[in-house]
Order: sequence, then C-alpha cells, then structure tokens
Amino acid sequence: MEISEKEVEAIVRSVLSGLGQKSFQAEALHVKDKMCSDGEDGIFELVEDAIEAASKAQKEWVHRYKLKDRKRIIEAIRVTSRAHAESLARMVHEETGMGRYEDKITKHMAVIDKTPGVECLVTDAISGDEGLMIEEPAPFGVIGAITPSTNPTETMINNTISMIAGGNAVVFNVHPGAKKCCAYCLQILHRAIVENGGPKNLITMQREPDMDAVHKLTSSPHIRLMVGTGGMGMVHALLCSGKRTIGAGGAGAGNPPVVVDDTADLSLAARELYRGASFDNNLLCLAEKEVFVMDNVAEELVDRLVGEGAYLLDDLQLKKITELAMVNKDGKYEVNKKWVGKDAGKFLEAIGIQEHREPRLLICVTDRSHPFVKVEQLMPVLPIVRCGSFEKCVEWAVDTEAGNRHTASIFSKNVEHMTLFGKEIETTIYTKNGATLKGIGIGGEGHTTMTIAGPTGEGLTCARSFTRRRRCMLAEGGLRII
Ligand code: NAD
Repeated sequence: MEISEKEVEAIVRSVLSGLGQKSFQAEALHVKDKMCSDGEDGIFELVEDAIEAASKAQKEWVHRYKLKDRKRIIEAIRVTSRAHAESLARMVHEETGMGRYEDKITKHMAVIDKTPGVECLVTDAISGDEGLMIEEPAPFGVIGAITPSTNPTETMINNTISMIAGGNAVVFNVHPGAKKCCAYCLQILHRAIVENGGPKNLITMQREPDMDAVHKLTSSPHIRLMVGTGGMGMVHALLCSGKRTIGAGGAGAGNPPVVVDDTADLSLAARELYRGASFDNNLLCLAEKEVFVMDNVAEELVDRLVGEGAYLLDDLQLKKITELAMVNKDGKYEVNKKWVGKDAGKFLEAIGIQEHREPRLLICVTDRSHPFVKVEQLMPVLPIVRCGSFEKCVEWAVDTEAGNRHTASIFSKNVEHMTLFGKEIETTIYTKNGATLKGIGIGGEGHTTMTIAGPTGEGLTCARSFTRRRRCMLAEGGLRII
C-alpha cells in the first residue's frame, strides 16, 4: 500500500497531538496527586497522606534541627497564636455554639503563655566508678492526637507546643463540630513553623475528621503514640486499639466535687465557686460540678453565692431545667447535648424567666441523687448538697466522683480536713481554697495543659509526657573528669 506524503504528515500530526494530550493529562494527574499529597498548610484530604507527610517532617525535625531551633519555632507559634487569640475565640464560639467568648480568650492566652516548651525536657546523668550514664527524653515519632469540641483550638495549640518540643510530629483528628476553627488554627500554626524555617507538615490533619481516620491512625505503623483528649467513649476506643495511648478524659469523664466545711472563709468560697463554675459556662472538664457543704454553713454559702450574682433556682424551676437539660434513657440520665455550654440566661429564658441582669451561674439546693449531681453536665448550673457532717461531705463527694480521679477541691482552714479529703478523693488535680481553674495554672502556679491524662497516669501533660526515655551508657569510667 502506498502512502502519500500528505497522509504521512497527517498521521505524524495526529500521533504527536495524541502524545501531547496524553502528557497533558498525565501532568494534570501528577499535579492533582501532588496537591493531594502535599497538603495545603498541613491540611490533607486523606489521613494516609497526612501521616506520611508528618512522618517525613518528623525525621527532618530530629535530624536537621537543634533544640535552639525548636525554641525559636515554639516562640513563633506563641507569637502567632497570641495575635489570633481573639479571632480563634470568636470562631470557636460561633462554630461550636458553646461557652463564653471572653473566657475563651483567657483559655487561649493560658495555653499560649503557660504551656512549657523544651525547658521541661531534662536529662538524668549518673557518673560513678563504673562509668557515665545519661538518660534522655527522646521523641516517640509521629503522634496521633484526638481533640475535643469543648477546648478545640486551645487543645491544638497546647498539644502542638508540647509535642513538637518533644521532637515529635502530630497528626490531628479534631472534633467534627469544631473542624473549621481547628483547620484555621492548624494552618496559622503551620505557617508560623514554616515561615520560621521549620519543616512543612510537622503538624497535619485530614480536612474532614471521621472515625475511619481515627482507625487509620491507630493502625498505622508510622504512628507511635495516640493522645486522646475528650470523653469516655473515645479514650476507651483508643485504649482498646492496642496502640500505646495517653488518655485524657477517661474511664469516666470528670465530675469534680467541691467540699465546703464549717471552718471555710465563705466569702472566698462563694467568690471562687462563682468564677470557677461559670467560667466558659462550665465547659472545662475540671470545673466545679457540684458542692457538698456542711449543713451549719449551707445557708450562708448560698446567700453569698447569690451575692456574687448567682441565680437561685426554686424546686419548680429546677424541675423544668432538668427536663430541658437531661434525657432519661431507660432510667439513666444523660445530658441533652443541645444545652451543653449554653449561657445561664438562656436556661432562664427557656423556662420563661426574664432577668434584667443576666447571671453567669444558676445554683440550686438539692439531694445527692439529682442528675445534675450525678452526671457530668458541662453547664453553668451548680447543685449544692447539704451534709450533716464533714465525714458525710467526703463520703458523698468520693461517691459522686465515681473513681474518675480527675479533679476535686476543698474550702477549709482545717489542715486535717484538707489532707483527709485529698487522700480519700485521689484526684489528679486537687485545689484548696481556690477555683479548680487555678489547678491548670489559670490564676494559679504551675503550667497549663488542656490534656489532663488521669486514666493513664501522665497527669497534667507537657513536653516531657510525649517523650520516651533512652539510656546511653559509657562504661569503664570513660569521659569522667574525677
Ligand atoms: P467527645 O468524646 O465527644 O469527642 C472527643 C473527640 O473524640 C472528638 O474528636 C471526637 O470526634 C472523638 N471521638 C468520639 N467518639 C469516638 C470514638 N468512639 N472513637 C474515636 N474517637 C471518638 O468529647 P467532647 O464532647 O468533645 O468533649 C467533652 C468531654 O471531654 C467531657 O467529658 C470532658 O470531661 C472531656 N474532656 C477531658 C479533658 C481532659 O483533659 N481530661 C479535656 C477536655 C475534655
């Protein structure tokens, strides 16, 4: 068969144009793949890519960067977060519909200023006849961090500082109810890291958080540690996954009791209880959830709380609010999530009460079996239970805390009472004569954390909690100078 010159030219043109198209398509696919696996300031469509990218970043972080670089980058994270504290507080409030804007600023500032960095990593050394031994805090590698809806961006800032200070990278799976503010927060932290010379993807997350991503995190060989901050279902699921887990929340969520005895400074107790129990509408797991007060000072404590601005509910009003805020499931009460973290004034409005001076806190005098006492409600409603003796206060408080070993407090001037309740309650945080907020460094001494690992025993986490000990032994007395 003879082919004319024109036909040959036509065939060549068509093959070339086909090739061109193919290479364009391949290029497009490549670009798409690249976009997907590169992420967008730490945000990925697929958790697998988020894990892989974080794993690469972590290797760089430990091999190419020194402690002074970690310090510099953590300082940059603090500076950026400080500049965004108000906008983050606003975004969290709008997206979750829970808590109080002004208190969210305080929470952000506390984690920004009081989460320790590399300074809390200490090396132990023993120098003796048989050589020199050092034990150092080494990174785990890539950490999978689950964060709650109640302190979403606060936990992200706090975990980021603590975890990268320890030499780790982090893949977050955030609460779906706070995914937008968390994605925004992650991106600004990511930019601060990269703009200050740090590796990209040291912190990552899947854009749409879900349970499948949690499963992929726990089953990935790249993830060396899971850290779960939130409710009991989640921490239980992580602990059952077989992956090493630091669990903050736990076997039961926190339901912190307060004991007030008849030696207490009642005006101080009322002032601190009003502040603590109403802070961010009681969203903090460590906020005061119920009070056990000795009978002979109960009336005065209630009067003083009202003097601080609390609204005292009568029996009928309490009944109505209980019907709103609690759901009875087969005889067991659960919170109605719609009412978690809502303003006290909203509760009053819903039962037809108009208060011109909106209170921050509602209080009620009730018995110890009331659902507001038994259930961790995360609402600005503080039940007060009258007790015949100090011993009864302790017995009922311990029973109500139900072995969570989370947080408790006492108002007393009797040292023996303070010691006895502390021994009986066994909580991770125990405050005396102050709001429990002070126990995480908000107005109190000590560092701040949003991840209080009671169940697994790390306590108030910091960079040290996210490291593993490695020992180096130089035998035969080498390098010793004595
Ligand atoms: P939550 O348990 O509903 O959600 C927390 C996180 O876990 C979210 O990211 C969610 O998506 C995920 N999750 C939920 N169920 C899961 C499961 N079965 N498997 C895997 N992941 C799961 O908690 P929340 O409502 O956001 O937060 C409030 C609770 O968290 C309260 O009980 C409070 O006491 C507790 N909390 C504890 C601490 C602490 O440090 N101990 C701090 C903050 C909040």
